[in-house]
Amino acid sequence: MSDYFKNRPSKCNSEYTSPDQVILCPDNNQSMYCHLLCGLSQRENVVGVRATFAHALIKALNALQIYWKELSSNIRSGHVSEWITDINCRNSVSAILGGPDPELADLVERECSNNSWEGIITRLWPKAKYIECIVTGQMAQYIPTLEFYSNKLPIVSMIYGSSESIFGVNVNPLSKPQDVSYTFLPNISYFEFLPVDHEEDMNSIVDLVDVKLGCCYETVVTSYFGLHRYLVGDILQVTGFYNKTPQFRFVRRKNTVLTVNSETTTEEDILKGIARATLVLESSNSMLMGFTCYADISTFPGHYVFYWELKAKDVNDVVELDEKVLAECCYALEESFDSLYKRLRSKEGSVGALEIRVVQQGTFDSLMEYFISKGGSSAQYKTPMCINSSEALAVLEDKVLARFYSEKSPPLN
Ligand code: AMP
Repeated sequence: MSDYFKNRPSKCNSEYTSPDQVILCPDNNQSMYCHLLCGLSQRENVVGVRATFAHALIKALNALQIYWKELSSNIRSGHVSEWITDINCRNSVSAILGGPDPELADLVERECSNNSWEGIITRLWPKAKYIECIVTGQMAQYIPTLEFYSNKLPIVSMIYGSSESIFGVNVNPLSKPQDVSYTFLPNISYFEFLPVDHEEDMNSIVDLVDVKLGCCYETVVTSYFGLHRYLVGDILQVTGFYNKTPQFRFVRRKNTVLTVNSETTTEEDILKGIARATLVLESSNSMLMGFTCYADISTFPGHYVFYWELKAKDVNDVVELDEKVLAECCYALEESFDSLYKRLRSKEGSVGALEIRVVQQGTFDSLMEYFISKGGSSAQYKTPMCINSSEALAVLEDKVLARFYSEKSPPLN
C-alpha cells in the first residue's frame, strides 16, 4: 500500500501478470480470483510463479481448484464474473482479458478437469522455470506439495526478512531448500547477535563481523524505522561467508517448544519429524496441507497432539484414512525427536503415545480466519507450529474427523 510501491519505476510493472489494482484490492477473495484470471490469460508470459511465503501459493492452488470452471468461462466470454464488484479490479482485469478467448478456455478446462493435478503449474504455465517463495523454517512443510504441483521445478527461496527489516538474501538461488543460507545485508539495518544459551546476558552480544562459523545466535536488529535492539525471536546458525559477510541458516523460532515432561522438542525437531512423516504419507493417496500441534497435559501421561489436514492427490478422490499409514506417520514423528523424549516415552512411560488428529478440509483456512480476525495480516500469515490458545484449539477440535496413535514406541538411541 506504500507510495514507494505505487510509484515504483514503470519497468517493474512487467514483473507481475496482475495490475496494481488487483494487487492493492482490499478484498482477499476478489484479489485472489483476479490474480488467477490475469495469470491464466497471460500464461505465455509467465516465467516464474511467486508469492512471499509458500503458504500463499498453496492457497492460490486451492483457489484454482475451486474456481477453474468459472475462470475458464470468464476467459471464454471475455467477461469478468459479476461478484468481482471492486470497480478498479473489474476494469483493469477486463482490459487484460481483452475479449473472448475460447481456445485458452478449452485448454484451461482440459488441464484442470484432469483427475490428477500432478504438474498442474507446468501444464498451465509451460514457460515457468521456477517457483519463488520462502520454503525455509516453518514453510518447509509445503515443499512436497509444491514439488507435486510443479513437477519438481526449482524452488527459489530468495529472502529472509520481517516487517521490521529485510535481513538477508540467498545468493545461491538454485540451492536445494534444505541447503539455503541467507547472506546478511549489513547496510540495511544494524544487526547484532545474541549467542544461544546466553539469552539472559545482553553483554555476550556480538556484532555481525564477530559471529563464529557453526554457532547459533538470535538476531537483534536496530532498524532505520526507529526500532532499537529488537530481539527478533529467530535462531540462526552461521554456515559460511560470502566474501566476509556471514551467511546464516534459519534454524527455528525461539520459543516454539513442545514439552509434557522434562523433554524439549524444538521447532527444528518437529520439522524433521514432519519431513519424515510426509515420506511415509507418500505411499497413500493423500498430501499434507497443513499442521499444527500442542502438548496435551490433560491426559496422564501427557502426550503430543498433531492436527493434520489432508487432501487427496487426485482432485476428485476422497482422502482415504489408512490406519496403518497414519500410525506409521505418528511413529516417524516420534523417531525424529531427541533421546530424552524417546527415553521418557519408551522406558519410563512418562510421555504418552503421540496422536495425529485428522481434521476436515478447510480447517486451516478457518484457523487463519480466526487469527486474522484477531488482527493478523493475511499476506504474512504463517500457521503457528504450536498452539497454546484455547480459542484457537477449539477451532481445530470442532473439525476433528479421526484420531490415530503410534502403535509402538520409538527406538532408544
Ligand atoms: P513477519 O514480520 O510477520 O513477516 O514475520 C517475520 C518472521 O517470518 C521472521 O521473524 C521469521 O520467523 C519468518 N521468516 C521470514 N522469512 C523467513 C525465511 N526466509 N525463512 C524462515 N522463516 C522466515
